[in-house]
Amino acid sequence: MRTSALEYLNCPKCGGASLKLTGDSAPAESDGHILTGALSCANCAANFPIRNGVPILLPPDVAQVKLETASRFAEEWTRWSDLRDYYDREFFDWVAPLGPKDFENQVVLEGGCGKGRHTAIVASRGAKAIVALDLGESAFVAFAHTRHFPNAHVIIGDLLNPPVRPVFDLAFSVGVLHHLPDPAAGFRSLASRVRDGGRVAFWVYGQEGNEWITRYVDPLRKAITSRLPAAFLRAACIPPALLLWAAIKLLYRPDANGRGPAKLPYGDYFAAQYHYPFDEIHANVFDQLVTPVAFYLREDQVRPWFASGFRDAILRSHRGYSWTGVATVARASIPAARRANQP
Ligand SMILES: [Zn+2]
Repeated sequence: MRTSALEYLNCPKCGGASLKLTGDSAPAESDGHILTGALSCANCAANFPIRNGVPILLPPDVAQVKLETASRFAEEWTRWSDLRDYYDREFFDWVAPLGPKDFENQVVLEGGCGKGRHTAIVASRGAKAIVALDLGESAFVAFAHTRHFPNAHVIIGDLLNPPVRPVFDLAFSVGVLHHLPDPAAGFRSLASRVRDGGRVAFWVYGQEGNEWITRYVDPLRKAITSRLPAAFLRAACIPPALLLWAAIKLLYRPDANGRGPAKLPYGDYFAAQYHYPFDEIHANVFDQLVTPVAFYLREDQVRPWFASGFRDAILRSHRGYSWTGVATVARASIPAARRANQP
């Protein structure tokens, strides 16, 4: 971490804007990063370690299921760790109608950064700063991928209690909220760190269009695959991934507009993956099966997230199997009595 990150961070224990680098921390490297050391809170005296360049800002009471989920995904992001050129197109597809210009000169918060694929995109697209948060060890991979960006800050923290100040122009979370024990609370917590008038964006799994997953794959994930040792699951995912990869190559060639065959399930989704190498398909299959927590959300479950405290909300179906939402934070629209209880 660089000390410039401190202007965005809060103590995860008392919420105070009072974290300081301790005197016994290692001196900064030539690129400005402090790789080992600690932060201490001048308000409540809590201490938080910095390890491998990443401050670990966890409150003492993080639920076990969240740590377990994060550690299962770390198995994915440390194994399939490289960044690829098609991530850029994927990302702006997920957060549309936001485009690259919407990130320029913005102070950005990323809720759940995994290996840092989106952190790197936003940092390279001219964000003033991006603070990328993850609960698991994948944050170390994200740090390695983004340490050369002077505007990127990676931290370990809990998205349901993010150790950052409410100063962000834009917060986003792609593919993460549906893995929290309470996705709606995750969205509220992400939005709570956005300044009034700033924007919040997310992409989550839909239940609509994913009926076969909720019916056939989900029970298998819950009962078996999420409990398998990661190395074994990686190997077990190779045969179905090979079948899927072959099916994509044979049946899902995109047309001139990038659209997939309308008659086949997930037409546009798989057509977008037509040029992906096999190991990306393998990673996607593993991703579906590895996690202990995954919610497939209906429109009527997601739409109420914007019910109060937002304006200009847009919720749209993304390729028929997921939801993308973007809205502007407008706290003045919340009744005063309720506003008093907001962070
Ligand atoms: Zn404190």
